[in-house]
Amino acid sequence: MPIHTRVLIIGSGPAGLTAAIYTSRAQLSPLVIEGEPSSTSDQPGGQLMLTTDIENFPGFPEAISGPELMTNMRAQALRFGAELLVDKVQRLDTTRRPFRAWLSSDAEEPGITADAVILATGAQSLMMDVPGEARLLSHGLSTCATCDGFFFRGHDIAVVGGGDSALEEALFLTRFATSVTIVHRRDTLRASKIMQERAFANEKIRFAWNTQVLEVLGDSKVEGLRVRDTLNNEERVLSVTGVFVAIGHIPNTTLVTGQVDLAENGYVRTGVGSFTNIEGLFAAGDVQDDVYRQAVTSAGSGCIAAIDAERWLEAQGL
Ligand code: NAP
Repeated sequence: MPIHTRVLIIGSGPAGLTAAIYTSRAQLSPLVIEGEPSSTSDQPGGQLMLTTDIENFPGFPEAISGPELMTNMRAQALRFGAELLVDKVQRLDTTRRPFRAWLSSDAEEPGITADAVILATGAQSLMMDVPGEARLLSHGLSTCATCDGFFFRGHDIAVVGGGDSALEEALFLTRFATSVTIVHRRDTLRASKIMQERAFANEKIRFAWNTQVLEVLGDSKVEGLRVRDTLNNEERVLSVTGVFVAIGHIPNTTLVTGQVDLAENGYVRTGVGSFTNIEGLFAAGDVQDDVYRQAVTSAGSGCIAAIDAERWLEAQGL
């Protein structure tokens, strides 16, 4: 027999865990499926597990590390009675209620049924999709400086991208690397002014402006980047032994593709609050937010989803 829960929360980033804190305090006994530890796209704790200091989450004047913030949120959800399971939802059926979820793709019967679902599956790193990238992933090419930076002590490294993620990765990597070259396809950064100022002030950081990556070079480890100057089309090789890709994210919507309305860019479409086009299915955090994408807005949207789900369940008499 499947386990039945009133609220199933899929994902354990700031959105999922905030939804868990609120729904457990509302006595809804939520079940949170946290994700898989081995995965870089849906690991428990979400993307903040891959970040360094968070300086803009209100309440932490001296900053807090991403993993510590998530550990605290998890403890807070547990304290109020949320049940948390380190596992991955392989399939979700929202075509009838109660909704059905499978933790194993082989099983015929669902492992879980739920009156309401809060989808908080987040987003994952975009890749450049150039030759050599897939082959050299984890062999000198990474999407997570916090996880892998230590291995690049004394290396010359490139960070691809011009947003806050790229600059944050670059600044962190200066702790280990001899030099960090930020490879950006334009001549102005997308990152916030404060991050720009820090990057410009760091002696180890250089910039390759108007530069597009064509290929990651190397057979079994990174030996360079073949790049093109977008202004004069000239090609050259950037001599680096490490590459960090930080060019943005795509939402994790596989579970609901074909079931729920998605925007043109693939994010789950939410109307007012966290409501999707499917009654009883709510979405929170980066899976539905392509605009703000902050830890604090993600947590806020988890709170909104919890309140929406609570009121919806009450209106249904569930
Ligand atoms: P982002 O803001 O979307 O920036 C992505 C960057 O990658 C842009 O500079 C973009 O270039 C470049 N890019 C995209 N596709 C590319 C491609 N195929 N090849 C080369 N370059 C490519 O993403 P993000 O930096 O991951 O940040 C996402 C959100 O999280 C933002 O809201 C950011 O403020 C937030 N964030 C905040 C912090 C912080 O506050 N400390 C840290 C990390 C992230 P163009 O500029 O030319 O489009």
